[in-house]
Amino acid sequence: MDRFFTQETCDRCGGSLKSGRIMSMYNEECICMVCKDKEREQSDYKEAVEAEHEQIKKGNYKGIKG
Ligand SMILES: [Zn+2]
Repeated sequence: MDRFFTQETCDRCGGSLKSGRIMSMYNEECICMVCKDKEREQSDYKEAVEAEHEQIKKGNYKGIKG
């Protein structure tokens, strides 16, 4: 999980993470803000967010402790 904070390139597009990084809502990729914006436009993005919330409620959230 430390890799999330130290890596310098987006897992998805390979672009720089200098302008910001965020965890993908679909998997555990560390992605740039451009890719995150694209995720938000996915038709199933809301479902992915809700699925994530379900996991947190069940106590399966892995969080940053890893
Ligand atoms: Zn990217």
